[in-house]
Amino acid sequence: MNELEKLTELFTQFPGIGPRQARRFVFFLLRQNAGYRSTLVHAISDVAEHAQQCTHCLRYARLHAQKPLCNLCADSSRTEEELMLVEKDTDIDQMEKSGAYSGKYFVLGGTLSLTGKKGFIREQELVKRLEGASELSEIILALSATTDGEYTSDYLTTKLSEGKDIKISTLGRGLSTGSELEYADATTLKQALKNRV
Ligand SMILES: [Zn+2]
Repeated sequence: MNELEKLTELFTQFPGIGPRQARRFVFFLLRQNAGYRSTLVHAISDVAEHAQQCTHCLRYARLHAQKPLCNLCADSSRTEEELMLVEKDTDIDQMEKSGAYSGKYFVLGGTLSLTGKKGFIREQELVKRLEGASELSEIILALSATTDGEYTSDYLTTKLSEGKDIKISTLGRGLSTGSELEYADATTLKQALKNRV
């Protein structure tokens, strides 16, 4: 395998990228100047060196200097009473942009699946996270308004209400059916959070 084939092969491992798009990426890089390529190489190695998984919310971020926590989990001005469950790291960024939420987060890492796809959520990690959450009074399920998202919300609602006196809510209407959280705008998210049921 030569250099071009090797790089193409690496790009095909990206989510949603096939061999043709991977080749287009390689040729795009070849056409850029050396400065761009070197910036990209450094950005990739910086991420590899500095971004780690937060032990509380499990998203990837630059962690606090003294604790194995991201800036949101280490922020004591955010309430421990609310925990929002999201599918992926980028959903947190989206919710933060809306400025409507000031509790803590947990990244499930995916959804369960009704549609035959391979489903996955970090269920054991969630159970562990909840064991240490003594101040928690509400869990907010902020999953996509898709079949799999709703199926996962139902599953978690049943699972999490077993023997616990915690309010479990889901984001309200406003998120259109079929939409993923990461594509929702700030106003919609704010509204959905306010109208949670
Ligand atoms: Zn965190």
